[in-house]
Amino acid sequence: MYVTRKCPACGCWAVFEIGIFCKRATERCTHCGYAMGNLAWDREARQKFEEDQALLARMCERYPQLRNVQRPGDHLKIDDE
Ligand SMILES: [Zn+2]
Repeated sequence: MYVTRKCPACGCWAVFEIGIFCKRATERCTHCGYAMGNLAWDREARQKFEEDQALLARMCERYPQLRNVQRPGDHLKIDDE
């Protein structure tokens, strides 16, 4: 599945690909390729995922152009956040 969030590596809001295998997760920025692997996919991680969605919704209100960041490779640099 895909989620739009801020990437700690490239500093852009970008589409992350999330893969879940047997309660472990991998995340990869589809813009710069930054990846984190073998993350625990537990209650806390799912909660964080939901918080990310809520944060994204708030950010989209301030920066409507973020709504266009949806497909793998899409990214947006927000300088004044
Ligand atoms: Zn990135």
